[in-house]
Amino acid sequence: MAHGYHFFMNPGPTNIPERILRAMNRGTIDFTQAQFRAISEECFAGLQRVFKTRETILAYAATGHGAWEAALVNLFSPGDKVLVVESGFFSLNWGMRGEVFGLEVETLPNDWRRPADPARLETRLREDKEHQIKAVLLVHSETSTGVANPVAALRRAMDAAKHPALFLVDAISSLASMDFRTDEWGVDVVVAGSQKGLMLPTGMAFTTVSKKALAAAVTAKLPRVYWDWKRLMGEASQAYWNGTAPVHFFYGMQEALRMLEEEGLDNVFERHHRLAEATRRAVRAWRQNDGPEIYAVDPGAQSNTITAVLLPEGYDADKLRQICLDKFNLSLGGGLERLKGRVFRIGHLGDLNEPMVLGTIATVEMALDLVGVPHGKGAVQAAIDYLAGEA
Ligand code: PLP
Repeated sequence: MAHGYHFFMNPGPTNIPERILRAMNRGTIDFTQAQFRAISEECFAGLQRVFKTRETILAYAATGHGAWEAALVNLFSPGDKVLVVESGFFSLNWGMRGEVFGLEVETLPNDWRRPADPARLETRLREDKEHQIKAVLLVHSETSTGVANPVAALRRAMDAAKHPALFLVDAISSLASMDFRTDEWGVDVVVAGSQKGLMLPTGMAFTTVSKKALAAAVTAKLPRVYWDWKRLMGEASQAYWNGTAPVHFFYGMQEALRMLEEEGLDNVFERHHRLAEATRRAVRAWRQNDGPEIYAVDPGAQSNTITAVLLPEGYDADKLRQICLDKFNLSLGGGLERLKGRVFRIGHLGDLNEPMVLGTIATVEMALDLVGVPHGKGAVQAAIDYLAGEA
């Protein structure tokens, strides 16, 4: 029997604020009529401010996987080569989907614990003298590892190599939580989803589309119907939807965007930084006595939305997560693929405050004791000292 609040601290989906739930608790309206068009237009204009783009944004009834696929099928033809910058489970997974569609997928190998190196990208692109690489695919905040990649520096590397490849970036676990500047950073397609920084239920996904990407879509030959950008933009209006528009999602999105604007995007980013830093300080306290450590080793490249915590050899992170859930009603993310059982992941993104982070740290420390994982003490105090000092 679970009591009290369910502490949901996964790195997506995230907690849905009451305000958004209430905004969605309304009757259906006709999605072809003016009332819905006004809501939809407000949403797309708000999204442009969040993505920091003046270019087109398209939305799909899908999870992030759908937006990944939309980007691939609209831009490429069978046999096209794309370069995936390896960062972890999600980067490789995106690339694997390209293979299924007959793309030649090259991986720029990278240590999962470190950010991608712009110099290595530049070198690889300079070698590609015939410009066979049609696109570079990157995950900004790699949700499986907690490493944040330097999007702007990687863009500069592409420019330095004078390479014309499209730049596709997955901002699924960074958008609306960490600064993301689509136009300024020269990102042709940003892929995002509803269930992370936007604080919405899972089920809506987005792509931005630069003019260069739109031009590439004209000649791309992979088959697509539902994802087809041309069809979606056919009515020359972004309010256009392929099929029945999910009006309740738009009710929620309208409220979410209003909440983000009321707080101010910079304040949203600052709050995420603060809560992430408190989490990191707590893990560093556990690290004493050969305890758990932050998986992302470069302090300058630790994501402000998720911290993956690596347990010492021989201890099972899934057992720890199960204790957190069963005994204390706290849900944490698990390790993916090669990190299964090795790490647990604390999501610190979306609708979150200090007590939620402190409660999580305290609970994990209890679970570390129960599993018998060696660890330093004082993680909650380390987080308090930081948060109170910064308050
Ligand atoms: N990319 C990243 C970075 C993610 O974190 C996720 C999901 O967590 C995905 C892609 C896949 O998105 P979805 O689960 O919404 O399909």
